[in-house]
Amino acid sequence: MAALPATDHLRERARAALARCGVEHLDESAGGGHDARTPITGGTLFQLAPSSAADVDSAVSTARSAFSDVWRDTPAPERGRLVRRLGELLREHKSDLADLVSIEAGKIGSEAAGEVQEMIDICDFAVGLSRQLYGRTMASERPGHRLMETWHPLGVVGVVTAFNFPVAVWSWNTAVALVCGDTVVWKPSELAPLTALACHGLLMRAAADVGAPQEVHRVVLGGREAGERLVDDERVALLSATGSVRMGREVGPRVAARLGRCLLELGGNNAAIVAPSADMDLALQGVAFGAAGTAGQRCTTQRRLIVHEDVADEFTERVVEAYGKLGERIGDPFAEETLVGPLIGEKAHRSMDEALRTAADSGGRLLTGGTRRLASEAPDAYYVDPAVVRMPRQEDVVRRETFAPILYVLTYRTFEEALELHNGVPQGLSGSVFTRDQREAERFLSSAGCDCGIANVNIGTSGAEIGGAFGGEKATGGGRESGSDSWRAYMRRATNTVNYSAELPLAQGVSFL
Ligand code: NAD
Repeated sequence: MAALPATDHLRERARAALARCGVEHLDESAGGGHDARTPITGGTLFQLAPSSAADVDSAVSTARSAFSDVWRDTPAPERGRLVRRLGELLREHKSDLADLVSIEAGKIGSEAAGEVQEMIDICDFAVGLSRQLYGRTMASERPGHRLMETWHPLGVVGVVTAFNFPVAVWSWNTAVALVCGDTVVWKPSELAPLTALACHGLLMRAAADVGAPQEVHRVVLGGREAGERLVDDERVALLSATGSVRMGREVGPRVAARLGRCLLELGGNNAAIVAPSADMDLALQGVAFGAAGTAGQRCTTQRRLIVHEDVADEFTERVVEAYGKLGERIGDPFAEETLVGPLIGEKAHRSMDEALRTAADSGGRLLTGGTRRLASEAPDAYYVDPAVVRMPRQEDVVRRETFAPILYVLTYRTFEEALELHNGVPQGLSGSVFTRDQREAERFLSSAGCDCGIANVNIGTSGAEIGGAFGGEKATGGGRESGSDSWRAYMRRATNTVNYSAELPLAQGVSFL
């Protein structure tokens, strides 16, 4: 592996990017602080002061006042001007934000830039949406009556995000929430506070530029305690939380206990089926990016390959060969040739090791990968060779999401068997089939087919566009964000009946008085 950059160099690069995004001073505490680290070297960049309970409360109060005093009554197209300006600033600062994403999440250059592009795209989408928050008009059964739906802002949206998409997920929520008339309090991952401060800085600049109140958005820093304060705060009308299934199992019941609204975007365990008729070159590309891209740290990462037994040996061999080539391109995410960056940290590496051991104990055969590449200058960085493991059955370890690059290979004989394996996991985020058989493709997309929120044909499991609704079923939480009509989750619906007649007929023919 080529030499890694020094932590000091990354610190200065992060400081410069932050300053350009309007974050001149970091609230660095002398001790007991919250480490902002980089997985590139495993080194500490800054020690930031975490938000106290009082800070979180005050952020919610501020956002709540901005909502009720100004924002909910600001016309939606006018709210769209703020998001349009944000989109312009994101374009201007695309490389600054991409630098911060690489530094904090370890993403390679093109993926980091792609994540920022996703923010720009959702801003464009939300600006259009600001003139399209349509309600319906229904036929009333009563003469001289009009029946319609109107949509209204909800209030404060609490946004809790995961480390692996440190900025895109925030933007899906925030761009849409802001045009819907909500205000936002964001608790980013404790592993990615810098990207959050930079985004907040740009949004504050956008607000100043268009004369919108800066209080429409607040950031609070810290780990689960800060998240829990938002979860339990009755003034948070919608809690949108992205992260592990474990986190969702804690957050969901707590928000439900106060009868709040919750939008959960949780872990996946995504599979691609490769049928004998598939275009194998295309399937190979889709599987390699889906399984090894982002070092296996996407919620949509392909974790299972379900391949027909007639082509299993040959296709798996090709995957292993492709992984061999990837092996030459693991390392510093800033290096042009790198395709696989680091794992986020020691815990991720430990869970990868454990999963590989458990898989071997359950009869799995490691075909390639799994070894750590130790960089002598950065002993706290975790670079690994993506692993491929052939499994005799879909054992428990395969049914769990291990957030690291492990691809389990399973084989099938009939398409129904493939679907059963595909759906035989607790999670339901993303699935795909590679086939040239139209019957199989349509069967996969039918109601008895893939049970995920995202179901693809002849493309891999990862790399969604913002125009569609994003999210998954079963243990993935059921939430939908980003495009299509996901905006409805950020608003409340009122059904209005207007009587413009001189009579007062009751519905269903009821008579009274
Ligand atoms: P995580 O669950 O450890 O943390 C996610 C966020 O939740 C963090 O901000 C964390 O501080 C907060 N949190 C944790 N416990 C909490 C609690 N009890 N109350 C309130 N907040 C709490 O996840 P991670 O390791 O940062 O991210 C990886 C996971 O996220 C993977 O499982 C991945 O599949 C999932 N993910 C899902 C999506 C999606 O859209 N479905 C997108 C990205 C990541």
